[in-house]
Amino acid sequence: MNNNFKTQITHFAKTVSTLAASVALAASISSGVQAQSSAKATPAVPMAKFQAPGFYRMMLGSFEITVLSDGTATRHVDEIMSKPEAVRAAYAHHHEELPVELSINTFLINTGKQLLLVDTGAGELFGDAGDGKGSSNRLVANLRAAGYQPEQIDAVLLTHIHGDHSGGLSIGGKRVFPNADVYVDKNDASYWLSQANANAAPAARQLTFTQSRATVNPYADAGRLKTFSGAQELFAGVSSIPSYGHTPGHTAYLISSQGKQLLLWGDVIHAGAAQFKDPGITIAYDFDAVAAVTSRQYLLQLAADKGYLVGSAHISFPGLGHIGRSSAGYEWLTAPYQIKGTY
Ligand SMILES: [Zn+2]
Repeated sequence: MNNNFKTQITHFAKTVSTLAASVALAASISSGVQAQSSAKATPAVPMAKFQAPGFYRMMLGSFEITVLSDGTATRHVDEIMSKPEAVRAAYAHHHEELPVELSINTFLINTGKQLLLVDTGAGELFGDAGDGKGSSNRLVANLRAAGYQPEQIDAVLLTHIHGDHSGGLSIGGKRVFPNADVYVDKNDASYWLSQANANAAPAARQLTFTQSRATVNPYADAGRLKTFSGAQELFAGVSSIPSYGHTPGHTAYLISSQGKQLLLWGDVIHAGAAQFKDPGITIAYDFDAVAAVTSRQYLLQLAADKGYLVGSAHISFPGLGHIGRSSAGYEWLTAPYQIKGTY
């Protein structure tokens, strides 16, 4: 037996004893685990059960744009749109079950000189307390999460007066944006804030009249309601485009900076799965459905021709995309998610 062989034998013996010790240790760990698990089950990790903060940021030329989510509203869109079969087929194609959760998107623009908010979400009108447990009334929390405070907003621009666009102006009868002027086309202000019009309107619209007065009037009472008529440049780089029909004064806003454009078109599209393909599909909330179709066609054509980026109130958050043409009408081309575009 030479020394080398002796060394190998010794090494082998050590390995065997180490292995035996490992097996014994593993057995004891195993029995320990069994003993422990029979005494007390390993607790499951609780599900977190909340959604990410709803803001999305991008630059448009020198303007900073932040899409702010107010959350979602659950809607049986097939029951409120003019071609229910086509709407059902469109959502089935998109693998979306009815009722659908429609996003409620609002848009914050920091021009470097002013802080402007286009639309305000539903506030408390859909019954949510703003505590993050309901699906709407999340605008203020998301605004804060995005690095701004309600008191910093200089102006709110309404695409129209309807609960899920102007409802977030006031909560509990108090102005949410105490230092902001509210801009809206005078056709909407004069229609929805008039008691005489409420008296003459059908029953289905009464709730909107009541809610409009409750949420918009605190600004009128404070001398903060500013109306305009039709196409105007309201701020440098911010112009209104009348798109009447859905409401008497429904307005889109074109935001322009350094050759870049963003079209914020309010309620031109409610049911994205169906209405790009068939812009003739209308919604029961339209004030004048024929005029609403004309406005929808006009803005779709404009956005497609000019290649505008579009911010859409009810397309899945953040609701940013371009408009393409398809053989069947138009199509929504979702904008890519970007991080580097923010700095
Ligand atoms: Zn609306």
